[in-house]
Amino acid sequence: MATVVRDCLSFVAVDKIARAVQADPENSLWMACTCQACAGRQLEWIHYLRDRDEQQAAAFGHALEILFDLRDHLVSPALNPKDRQLSWREHCGAALARYDELHDAGQEWPTAPNFLRQWFNLPVPSRTAS
Ligand SMILES: [Zn+2]
Repeated sequence: MATVVRDCLSFVAVDKIARAVQADPENSLWMACTCQACAGRQLEWIHYLRDRDEQQAAAFGHALEILFDLRDHLVSPALNPKDRQLSWREHCGAALARYDELHDAGQEWPTAPNFLRQWFNLPVPSRTAS
């Protein structure tokens, strides 16, 4: 069972999430999630659900809302195509930094997925180009 860790732009197993929260509960990565499924809880709560169907529904509900939120931000009419590309690249760079941070802290955390590095390395327009 896995769900989305927003700042990592990735699905991560809920048991790994629970261990990471226990190891460093004050990390901003684990601040209370305000999605409807989590309702202000830290993401680890999903791991502790006993009923597998409930756990799956919670993991999916959280993931869906986070993915929709990321999408809404990315397709915002306030952003032009160049801004969208730059924004996505910044999201990917921040997610890679989060992976490194957890590794450097000695936590049992997966390495950054290849897709994230590939997204980050996609060519984007320069900030100064018009
Ligand atoms: Zn949530």
